Amino acid sequence: MMILVVDGCAPEYLTEETAPDLFRLARENGFAKIVESQMPSVTNVNHACILSGLCPKDTGVVGNYYYDPATGGEGFIEERGFMQAETILQAYRKAGGSTALFTVKGKVLGVYGEGADIGLSAQDPDEELVKALSLPPAPPIHSARSTEWILQAALSCMEKYSPDLMYCTNNDFIFHHYAPGTPQAKQQIAYVNEYVRRIHELEPQRQIYITADPPSCYPFAGGRKPVPVQQGYCRHRSAPHLIQEEAP
Ligand SMILES: [Zn+2]
Repeated sequence: MMILVVDGCAPEYLTEETAPDLFRLARENGFAKIVESQMPSVTNVNHACILSGLCPKDTGVVGNYYYDPATGGEGFIEERGFMQAETILQAYRKAGGSTALFTVKGKVLGVYGEGADIGLSAQDPDEELVKALSLPPAPPIHSARSTEWILQAALSCMEKYSPDLMYCTNNDFIFHHYAPGTPQAKQQIAYVNEYVRRIHELEPQRQIYITADPPSCYPFAGGRKPVPVQQGYCRHRSAPHLIQEEAP
């Protein structure tokens, strides 16, 4: 199985034009449906829920930051110890399966990487693994190319190790800065489209689930203003697509 979380992706970014292979694969042997995002719709909260199938009250991860009223301590949630629920990575491993977690953002590996046999982040890459997977040096994490790089790494990992479970995610920077239809957003979706097609061609029997932690809203076309994801959640908050595809 592969679970791909396209960080910050709203349904409006995914169209027949921007992602023709995803639409074809979903039509041919999968399905697509609207599912609910957890609130607040930010990266940490949704990874916790997608990885565990539980709600924020049960995962204990309710934001990207923490504040402890008892001690006055506060900071970013970037390392182990915050996630209170078992992840699908841990469950797979318990059942004897092999697991991988590949992410652009380092904190995803930091917070959720406990059950991963193989872990890689573009932000802080394990150079030995980069070499083993014959990858070029990691690009800046705020570029669309970081999405290409992590998906290339996932493909390469499947060629080499074929883990039973691959959990892969990118960075929401592009979708938080560029509206649907902009060249930057289309480029990022093009990478997702291309690599999902290639992964399916490499391992047609692997189930692929694609979902997102959607942005509360996205910028207007051409806009470069960061979306204030921590405040004022938009009413039209988008829900992610979920696509599964199976061998015929
Ligand atoms: Zn995010």
